[in-house]
Amino acid sequence: VHVHQVLYSPELHINVDRFKKINEALGPALGDEFLQTFAKRLEQGVRARDTLARDAGAGDAQTAVPLRVSRLSGDEFAVLLTDVDKTEHVVTIAKRFLDMMAAAFHIGGHELFMTCSIGISVFPSDGVDRDILVQHAEVALKFAKRQGGNTYCFYTANLEGRALHLLSLTSELRNATQRGEFRLFYQPKIDTRTRKLIGAEALVRWMHPVRGMVSPAEFIPLAEETGIIIELGAWIMSRACRQIGDWLADGLPVPAVSVNISGRQFAHKDFLLSVDNLLQKNAFDRSLLQFEVTESFLMGDVKGNIDTLNHLHDLGLKLSLDDFGTGYSSLSYLTQFPLDELKIDQSFVRDIGAAGKGNSQSIIIAIIAMARALGLKVVGEGVETEAQATFLSDHACDQWQGYLFGKPMPAEDFALLLKAQAAAQTA
Ligand code: C2E
Ligand code: CA
Ligand code: CA
Repeated sequence: VHVHQVLYSPELHINVDRFKKINEALGPALGDEFLQTFAKRLEQGVRARDTLARDAGAGDAQTAVPLRVSRLSGDEFAVLLTDVDKTEHVVTIAKRFLDMMAAAFHIGGHELFMTCSIGISVFPSDGVDRDILVQHAEVALKFAKRQGGNTYCFYTANLEGRALHLLSLTSELRNATQRGEFRLFYQPKIDTRTRKLIGAEALVRWMHPVRGMVSPAEFIPLAEETGIIIELGAWIMSRACRQIGDWLADGLPVPAVSVNISGRQFAHKDFLLSVDNLLQKNAFDRSLLQFEVTESFLMGDVKGNIDTLNHLHDLGLKLSLDDFGTGYSSLSYLTQFPLDELKIDQSFVRDIGAAGKGNSQSIIIAIIAMARALGLKVVGEGVETEAQATFLSDHACDQWQGYLFGKPMPAEDFALLLKAQAAAQTA
Protein backbone atom coordinates (compact mmCIF):
# COMPACT_ATOMS: atom_id res chain seq x y z
CA VAL A 1 0.00 0.00 0.00
CA HIS A 2 1.36 3.38 -0.89
CA VAL A 3 0.84 5.82 1.97
CA HIS A 4 0.60 9.36 0.77
CA GLN A 5 2.89 11.55 2.79
CA VAL A 6 2.34 15.25 3.42
CA LEU A 7 5.46 17.23 2.63
CA TYR A 8 6.01 20.74 3.91
CA SER A 9 8.01 23.60 2.49
CA PRO A 10 8.91 25.96 5.31
CA GLU A 11 10.14 29.46 4.77
CA LEU A 12 12.54 30.90 7.35
CA HIS A 13 13.10 34.64 7.55
CA ILE A 14 16.28 35.45 9.40
CA ASN A 15 17.12 38.89 10.68
CA VAL A 16 20.25 40.01 12.50
CA ASP A 17 19.46 41.33 15.99
CA ARG A 18 20.49 44.93 16.63
CA PHE A 19 22.23 45.21 13.29
CA LYS A 20 21.55 48.94 13.15
CA LYS A 21 23.71 49.49 16.17
CA ILE A 22 26.64 47.66 14.63
CA ASN A 23 26.19 49.62 11.44
CA GLU A 24 26.15 52.91 13.35
CA ALA A 25 29.12 52.00 15.49
CA LEU A 26 31.36 50.56 12.79
CA GLY A 27 30.17 52.38 9.69
CA PRO A 28 28.43 50.98 6.60
CA ALA A 29 31.54 49.41 5.07
CA LEU A 30 32.23 47.19 8.06
CA GLY A 31 28.50 46.68 8.51
CA ASP A 32 28.41 45.27 5.01
CA GLU A 33 31.41 43.09 5.67
CA PHE A 34 29.61 41.72 8.70
CA LEU A 35 26.51 40.91 6.63
CA GLN A 36 28.60 39.07 4.08
CA THR A 37 30.21 37.00 6.82
CA PHE A 38 26.81 36.38 8.32
CA ALA A 39 25.43 35.21 4.96
CA LYS A 40 28.41 32.91 4.54
CA ARG A 41 27.72 31.32 7.90
CA LEU A 42 24.11 30.75 6.91
CA GLU A 43 25.17 29.10 3.69
CA GLN A 44 27.63 26.89 5.54
CA GLY A 45 24.84 25.80 7.84
CA VAL A 46 22.69 25.05 4.85
CA ARG A 47 25.41 23.10 3.10
CA ALA A 48 25.95 20.89 6.13
CA ARG A 49 22.76 19.11 5.25
CA ASP A 50 23.76 15.73 6.65
CA THR A 51 21.79 16.11 9.88
CA LEU A 52 18.74 17.39 8.09
CA ALA A 53 17.55 14.33 6.26
CA ARG A 54 14.02 13.22 5.82
CA ASP A 55 12.62 9.72 5.91
CA ALA A 56 12.30 8.53 2.37
CA GLY A 57 9.26 6.52 3.29
CA ALA A 58 9.82 2.78 3.22
CA GLY A 59 12.94 1.45 4.87
CA ASP A 60 15.61 3.58 6.47
CA ALA A 61 16.89 5.30 3.40
CA GLN A 62 17.23 9.04 3.86
CA THR A 63 17.39 11.80 1.34
CA ALA A 64 18.65 15.24 2.04
CA VAL A 65 16.20 18.12 2.20
CA PRO A 66 17.00 20.76 -0.41
CA LEU A 67 17.48 24.28 0.89
CA ARG A 68 18.06 27.70 -0.62
CA VAL A 69 19.34 30.93 0.94
CA SER A 70 18.51 34.33 -0.46
CA ARG A 71 18.90 37.90 0.72
CA LEU A 72 15.61 39.75 1.21
CA SER A 73 16.92 43.16 2.22
CA GLY A 74 19.82 44.73 4.12
CA ASP A 75 20.08 42.49 7.15
CA GLU A 76 17.36 39.99 6.35
CA PHE A 77 17.67 36.62 4.70
CA ALA A 78 15.27 33.91 3.64
CA VAL A 79 15.96 30.22 3.76
CA LEU A 80 13.58 28.01 1.79
CA LEU A 81 13.33 24.35 2.59
CA THR A 82 11.39 21.95 0.43
CA ASP A 83 9.87 18.55 1.03
CA VAL A 84 10.24 18.32 4.78
CA ASP A 85 8.14 15.57 6.29
CA LYS A 86 8.35 16.62 9.92
CA THR A 87 8.25 20.12 11.35
CA GLU A 88 10.81 18.95 13.93
CA HIS A 89 13.35 19.15 11.12
CA VAL A 90 12.60 22.83 10.78
CA VAL A 91 13.22 23.30 14.50
CA THR A 92 16.55 21.51 14.11
CA ILE A 93 17.68 23.81 11.36
CA ALA A 94 16.42 26.97 13.09
CA LYS A 95 18.33 25.97 16.21
CA ARG A 96 21.39 25.27 14.15
CA PHE A 97 21.26 28.77 12.67
CA LEU A 98 21.01 30.27 16.16
CA ASP A 99 23.92 28.14 17.40
CA MET A 100 26.11 29.13 14.49
CA MET A 101 25.89 32.74 15.61
CA ALA A 102 27.41 31.98 19.00
CA ALA A 103 31.02 32.24 17.82
CA ALA A 104 32.42 35.77 17.64
CA PHE A 105 32.52 37.62 14.34
CA HIS A 106 35.87 39.25 13.62
CA ILE A 107 35.21 42.35 11.56
CA GLY A 108 37.79 45.06 10.95
CA GLY A 109 39.68 44.30 14.16
CA HIS A 110 36.47 44.21 16.22
CA GLU A 111 35.16 41.15 17.95
CA LEU A 112 31.38 41.09 17.70
CA PHE A 113 28.94 38.82 19.48
CA MET A 114 25.78 38.73 17.45
CA THR A 115 22.46 36.92 17.49
CA CYS A 116 19.63 36.61 15.03
CA SER A 117 15.88 36.05 15.05
CA ILE A 118 13.95 33.66 12.87
CA GLY A 119 10.32 33.73 11.75
CA ILE A 120 8.91 30.60 10.16
CA SER A 121 5.87 29.96 8.01
CA VAL A 122 5.11 26.60 6.49
CA PHE A 123 3.63 25.66 3.11
CA PRO A 124 0.86 24.55 2.83
CA SER A 125 -0.49 24.86 6.37
CA ASP A 126 0.23 28.60 6.75
CA GLY A 127 -0.60 29.56 3.21
CA VAL A 128 -0.42 28.20 -0.31
CA ASP A 129 0.67 31.32 -2.05
CA ARG A 130 4.12 32.77 -1.73
CA ASP A 131 3.00 36.30 -0.79
CA ILE A 132 0.98 35.00 2.14
CA LEU A 133 3.85 32.78 3.30
CA VAL A 134 6.23 35.72 3.17
CA GLN A 135 3.79 37.89 5.14
CA HIS A 136 3.30 35.19 7.75
CA ALA A 137 7.02 34.56 8.12
CA GLU A 138 7.40 38.31 8.73
CA VAL A 139 4.72 38.26 11.44
CA ALA A 140 6.49 35.33 13.11
CA LEU A 141 9.83 37.13 12.81
CA LYS A 142 8.39 40.16 14.56
CA PHE A 143 7.36 37.99 17.47
CA ALA A 144 10.75 36.32 17.66
CA LYS A 145 12.25 39.83 17.88
CA ARG A 146 9.74 40.84 20.47
CA GLN A 147 10.88 37.99 22.69
CA GLY A 148 14.23 39.72 22.80
CA GLY A 149 15.77 38.06 19.74
CA ASN A 150 18.10 35.06 19.55
CA THR A 151 15.09 32.83 19.08
CA TYR A 152 12.74 31.41 16.43
CA CYS A 153 9.00 31.61 16.20
CA PHE A 154 6.50 29.67 14.07
CA TYR A 155 3.60 31.54 12.52
CA THR A 156 0.20 30.77 14.05
CA ALA A 157 -3.17 32.37 13.39
CA ASN A 158 -3.05 33.42 17.02
CA LEU A 159 -0.09 35.70 16.27
CA GLU A 160 -2.32 37.78 14.01
CA GLY A 161 -4.61 38.52 16.96
CA ARG A 162 -1.58 39.28 19.11
CA ALA A 163 -0.29 41.60 16.42
CA LEU A 164 -3.54 43.58 16.50
CA HIS A 165 -3.47 43.66 20.27
CA LEU A 166 0.07 44.98 20.24
CA LEU A 167 -0.82 47.58 17.67
CA SER A 168 -3.48 49.11 19.90
CA LEU A 169 -1.25 48.72 22.96
CA THR A 170 1.42 50.72 21.14
CA SER A 171 -0.90 53.63 20.44
CA GLU A 172 -2.07 53.59 24.05
CA LEU A 173 1.52 53.49 25.22
CA ARG A 174 2.20 56.73 23.38
CA ASN A 175 -0.31 58.54 25.54
CA ALA A 176 0.39 56.76 28.80
CA THR A 177 3.37 58.93 29.77
CA GLN A 178 1.33 62.13 29.39
CA ARG A 179 -1.57 60.61 31.25
CA GLY A 180 0.66 59.58 34.14
CA GLU A 181 -0.28 55.92 33.99
CA PHE A 182 3.11 54.60 35.06
CA ARG A 183 4.22 53.74 38.58
CA LEU A 184 7.49 52.53 39.99
CA PHE A 185 7.42 49.50 42.24
CA TYR A 186 10.35 48.47 44.41
CA GLN A 187 11.59 44.98 45.11
CA PRO A 188 13.80 44.33 48.13
CA LYS A 189 17.35 43.07 47.65
CA ILE A 190 18.48 40.93 50.54
CA ASP A 191 21.85 40.34 52.16
CA THR A 192 22.35 36.59 51.83
CA ARG A 193 24.05 36.25 55.22
CA THR A 194 22.00 38.53 57.46
CA ARG A 195 18.72 38.33 55.51
CA LYS A 196 18.42 42.09 55.90
CA LEU A 197 17.06 44.38 53.24
CA ILE A 198 20.04 46.15 51.69
CA GLY A 199 18.82 47.38 48.35
CA ALA A 200 15.90 47.93 46.02
CA GLU A 201 15.25 47.37 42.35
CA ALA A 202 12.85 49.84 40.76
CA LEU A 203 10.46 48.10 38.35
CA VAL A 204 8.02 50.02 36.22
CA ARG A 205 4.29 49.23 36.17
CA TRP A 206 1.69 50.44 33.71
CA MET A 207 -1.64 51.04 35.40
CA HIS A 208 -3.82 50.85 32.31
CA PRO A 209 -7.26 52.42 32.86
CA VAL A 210 -9.07 49.53 31.14
CA ARG A 211 -6.65 46.61 30.92
CA GLY A 212 -5.45 46.87 34.50
CA MET A 213 -1.79 46.39 35.29
CA VAL A 214 0.18 45.60 32.12
CA SER A 215 3.46 43.70 32.60
CA PRO A 216 6.70 45.45 31.66
CA ALA A 217 7.70 42.22 29.93
CA GLU A 218 4.93 43.12 27.49
CA PHE A 219 5.30 46.87 27.07
CA ILE A 220 9.05 47.50 27.50
CA PRO A 221 9.87 45.68 24.24
CA LEU A 222 7.14 47.76 22.53
CA ALA A 223 8.50 50.93 24.07
CA GLU A 224 11.96 50.03 22.77
CA GLU A 225 10.71 49.22 19.31
CA THR A 226 8.85 52.52 19.00
CA GLY A 227 11.42 54.72 20.71
CA ILE A 228 8.93 55.57 23.47
CA ILE A 229 11.50 54.10 25.86
CA ILE A 230 13.56 57.31 25.61
CA GLU A 231 10.83 59.38 27.24
CA LEU A 232 9.64 56.57 29.51
CA GLY A 233 13.17 55.73 30.61
CA ALA A 234 13.85 59.37 31.46
CA TRP A 235 10.67 59.41 33.55
CA ILE A 236 11.71 56.20 35.34
CA MET A 237 15.13 57.59 36.23
CA SER A 238 13.79 60.87 37.49
CA ARG A 239 10.93 59.21 39.41
CA ALA A 240 13.39 56.88 41.16
CA CYS A 241 15.61 59.82 42.09
CA ARG A 242 12.66 61.76 43.45
CA GLN A 243 11.68 58.70 45.49
CA ILE A 244 15.16 58.40 46.99
CA GLY A 245 14.97 62.09 47.92
CA ASP A 246 11.50 61.69 49.49
CA TRP A 247 12.54 58.67 51.55
CA LEU A 248 15.66 60.49 52.75
CA ALA A 249 13.54 63.51 53.67
CA ASP A 250 11.36 61.17 55.74
CA GLY A 251 14.45 60.10 57.66
CA LEU A 252 14.40 56.56 56.33
CA PRO A 253 17.57 54.44 56.03
CA VAL A 254 17.50 54.39 52.23
CA PRO A 255 19.50 51.62 50.55
CA ALA A 256 20.90 51.77 47.01
CA VAL A 257 18.14 51.79 44.39
CA SER A 258 18.72 49.99 41.08
CA VAL A 259 17.12 51.36 37.94
CA ASN A 260 16.87 49.27 34.77
CA ILE A 261 18.25 51.01 31.71
CA SER A 262 17.12 49.65 28.37
CA GLY A 263 19.72 49.20 25.64
CA ARG A 264 18.13 51.73 23.35
CA GLN A 265 17.97 54.29 26.15
CA PHE A 266 21.59 53.65 27.13
CA ALA A 267 22.81 54.00 23.54
CA HIS A 268 20.87 57.23 22.92
CA LYS A 269 23.10 60.23 22.28
CA ASP A 270 21.49 62.31 25.04
CA PHE A 271 21.58 59.62 27.71
CA LEU A 272 24.66 60.86 29.57
CA LEU A 273 23.43 64.42 29.37
CA SER A 274 20.11 63.47 30.95
CA VAL A 275 21.94 61.60 33.72
CA ASP A 276 24.14 64.63 34.39
CA ASN A 277 21.06 66.87 34.58
CA LEU A 278 19.32 64.48 36.89
CA LEU A 279 22.24 64.34 39.29
CA GLN A 280 22.42 68.09 39.34
CA LYS A 281 18.77 68.28 40.37
CA ASN A 282 19.16 65.62 43.07
CA ALA A 283 21.73 66.20 45.75
CA PHE A 284 21.79 62.80 47.45
CA ASP A 285 24.82 60.53 47.77
CA ARG A 286 25.36 59.13 44.27
CA SER A 287 26.18 55.66 45.46
CA LEU A 288 22.46 55.38 46.28
CA LEU A 289 21.72 55.20 42.58
CA GLN A 290 22.59 52.12 40.61
CA PHE A 291 21.99 51.27 36.94
CA GLU A 292 21.26 47.82 35.58
CA VAL A 293 22.08 47.00 31.97
CA THR A 294 21.71 43.61 30.38
CA GLU A 295 24.57 41.41 29.35
CA SER A 296 23.28 40.85 25.82
CA PHE A 297 23.06 44.58 25.17
CA LEU A 298 26.49 45.40 26.58
CA MET A 299 28.26 42.89 24.36
CA GLY A 300 26.81 44.52 21.24
CA ASP A 301 28.98 47.61 20.92
CA VAL A 302 31.69 46.92 23.43
CA LYS A 303 33.89 49.95 22.78
CA GLY A 304 31.08 52.51 22.85
CA ASN A 305 29.54 50.95 25.92
CA ILE A 306 32.81 50.94 27.84
CA ASP A 307 33.03 54.71 27.32
CA THR A 308 29.48 55.30 28.55
CA LEU A 309 29.95 53.02 31.56
CA ASN A 310 33.21 54.74 32.46
CA HIS A 311 31.46 58.08 32.41
CA LEU A 312 28.72 56.79 34.72
CA HIS A 313 31.28 55.16 36.97
CA ASP A 314 33.23 58.43 37.21
CA LEU A 315 30.03 60.15 38.28
CA GLY A 316 29.97 57.81 41.28
CA LEU A 317 27.07 55.63 40.15
CA LYS A 318 27.02 51.87 40.76
CA LEU A 319 26.71 49.60 37.74
CA SER A 320 25.15 46.20 37.55
CA LEU A 321 25.11 43.56 34.80
CA ASP A 322 21.59 42.14 34.58
CA ASP A 323 20.41 38.71 33.39
CA PHE A 324 23.95 37.37 33.51
CA GLY A 325 24.44 33.97 31.92
CA THR A 326 21.80 34.38 29.21
CA GLY A 327 23.84 36.29 26.64
CA TYR A 328 27.20 35.53 25.16
CA SER A 329 29.75 37.42 27.19
CA SER A 330 33.31 37.70 26.19
CA LEU A 331 35.07 37.29 29.50
CA SER A 332 37.98 39.42 28.36
CA TYR A 333 35.59 42.33 27.81
CA LEU A 334 33.94 41.75 31.13
CA THR A 335 37.12 42.86 32.86
CA GLN A 336 37.10 46.10 30.88
CA PHE A 337 33.64 47.21 32.00
CA PRO A 338 33.74 49.21 35.26
CA LEU A 339 31.04 47.05 36.86
CA ASP A 340 30.13 46.67 40.52
CA GLU A 341 27.69 43.81 40.39
CA LEU A 342 26.57 40.75 38.43
CA LYS A 343 23.00 39.51 38.62
CA ILE A 344 22.64 35.79 38.02
CA ASP A 345 19.66 35.29 35.74
CA GLN A 346 16.63 33.78 37.40
CA SER A 347 16.50 30.88 34.95
CA PHE A 348 19.50 29.38 36.79
CA VAL A 349 18.15 30.11 40.26
CA ARG A 350 14.81 28.53 39.35
CA ASP A 351 16.59 25.21 38.70
CA ILE A 352 18.13 25.00 42.16
CA GLY A 353 16.84 21.87 43.84
CA ALA A 354 15.05 20.69 40.68
CA ALA A 355 15.83 17.15 39.58
CA GLY A 356 18.21 16.80 36.65
CA LYS A 357 19.19 20.47 36.69
CA GLY A 358 22.61 20.10 38.25
CA ASN A 359 24.15 22.10 35.42
CA SER A 360 22.47 25.29 36.54
CA GLN A 361 23.90 24.88 40.01
CA SER A 362 27.39 24.38 38.60
CA ILE A 363 26.92 27.50 36.50
CA ILE A 364 25.84 29.52 39.55
CA ILE A 365 28.89 28.35 41.49
CA ALA A 366 31.14 29.24 38.56
CA ILE A 367 29.57 32.69 38.14
CA ILE A 368 30.05 33.43 41.84
CA ALA A 369 33.71 32.35 41.69
CA MET A 370 34.28 34.44 38.59
CA ALA A 371 32.59 37.50 40.09
CA ARG A 372 34.74 37.11 43.21
CA ALA A 373 37.89 37.00 41.12
CA LEU A 374 36.82 40.15 39.28
CA GLY A 375 35.93 41.92 42.51
CA LEU A 376 32.22 42.10 41.69
CA LYS A 377 29.25 41.61 43.99
CA VAL A 378 26.87 38.83 42.97
CA VAL A 379 23.09 38.87 43.22
CA GLY A 380 20.86 35.85 42.66
CA GLU A 381 17.52 36.74 41.09
CA GLY A 382 14.11 35.07 41.37
CA VAL A 383 14.54 33.36 44.74
CA GLU A 384 11.22 31.74 45.61
CA THR A 385 12.15 28.90 47.94
CA GLU A 386 14.12 28.49 51.12
CA ALA A 387 16.25 25.86 49.36
CA GLN A 388 17.30 28.41 46.74
CA ALA A 389 18.18 31.02 49.38
CA THR A 390 20.20 28.44 51.33
CA PHE A 391 22.06 27.31 48.23
CA LEU A 392 23.06 30.90 47.43
CA SER A 393 24.11 31.48 51.00
CA ASP A 394 26.13 28.23 51.10
CA HIS A 395 28.00 29.33 48.00
CA ALA A 396 28.73 32.82 49.28
CA CYS A 397 26.50 34.73 46.88
CA ASP A 398 26.29 38.29 48.30
CA GLN A 399 22.64 39.16 47.78
CA TRP A 400 19.41 37.85 46.37
CA GLN A 401 15.99 39.09 45.52
CA GLY A 402 12.79 37.19 45.00
CA TYR A 403 9.26 36.45 46.09
CA LEU A 404 10.58 34.52 49.11
CA PHE A 405 11.29 37.86 50.75
CA GLY A 406 9.05 40.16 48.78
CA LYS A 407 7.48 40.97 45.44
CA PRO A 408 7.92 44.36 43.81
CA MET A 409 5.69 46.74 45.80
CA PRO A 410 4.52 50.36 45.81
CA ALA A 411 6.88 52.93 47.35
CA GLU A 412 4.67 53.33 50.45
CA ASP A 413 4.89 49.61 51.24
CA PHE A 414 8.63 49.63 50.69
CA ALA A 415 8.90 52.57 53.09
CA LEU A 416 7.10 50.51 55.74
CA LEU A 417 9.70 47.76 55.35
CA LEU A 418 12.49 50.33 55.77
CA LYS A 419 10.79 51.70 58.89
CA ALA A 420 10.31 48.25 60.40
CA GLN A 421 13.93 47.37 59.77
CA ALA A 422 15.13 50.64 61.31
CA ALA A 423 12.93 50.04 64.37
CA ALA A 424 14.22 46.48 64.79
CA GLN A 425 17.78 47.76 64.67
CA THR A 426 17.31 50.35 67.40
CA ALA A 427 15.24 48.01 69.61
P1 C2E B 1 14.43 42.15 35.25
O1 C2E B 1 15.17 43.42 35.26
O2 C2E B 1 15.24 40.91 35.18
O3 C2E B 1 13.55 42.19 36.57
C1 C2E B 1 13.28 41.08 37.37
C2 C2E B 1 11.92 40.52 37.08
O4 C2E B 1 11.73 39.33 37.84
C3 C2E B 1 10.79 41.45 37.53
O5 C2E B 1 9.71 41.26 36.62
C4 C2E B 1 10.43 40.90 38.90
O6 C2E B 1 9.11 41.21 39.29
C5 C2E B 1 10.58 39.43 38.64
N1 C2E B 1 10.82 38.68 39.87
C6 C2E B 1 11.46 39.09 40.99
N2 C2E B 1 11.51 38.11 41.91
C7 C2E B 1 10.91 37.05 41.36
C8 C2E B 1 10.64 35.71 41.83
O7 C2E B 1 10.97 35.31 42.94
N3 C2E B 1 10.00 34.88 40.95
C9 C2E B 1 9.62 35.28 39.71
N4 C2E B 1 8.99 34.39 38.95
N5 C2E B 1 9.85 36.53 39.24
C10 C2E B 1 10.49 37.40 40.06
P2 C2E B 1 8.92 42.47 36.03
O8 C2E B 1 8.79 43.57 37.02
O9 C2E B 1 7.70 41.93 35.40
O10 C2E B 1 9.89 43.01 34.90
C11 C2E B 1 10.22 42.22 33.79
C12 C2E B 1 11.33 42.83 33.00
O11 C2E B 1 10.88 44.07 32.42
C13 C2E B 1 12.54 43.21 33.84
O12 C2E B 1 13.35 42.10 34.04
C14 C2E B 1 13.18 44.26 32.95
O13 C2E B 1 13.89 43.66 31.92
C15 C2E B 1 11.97 44.97 32.37
N6 C2E B 1 11.70 46.14 33.19
C16 C2E B 1 10.95 46.25 34.32
N7 C2E B 1 10.97 47.51 34.79
C17 C2E B 1 11.76 48.22 33.96
C18 C2E B 1 12.18 49.57 33.90
O14 C2E B 1 11.86 50.41 34.77
N8 C2E B 1 12.99 49.95 32.86
C19 C2E B 1 13.38 49.04 31.91
N9 C2E B 1 14.16 49.46 30.93
N10 C2E B 1 13.02 47.76 31.94
C20 C2E B 1 12.22 47.35 32.96
CA1 CA C 1 16.83 44.16 36.39
CA1 CA D 1 17.26 40.22 35.63
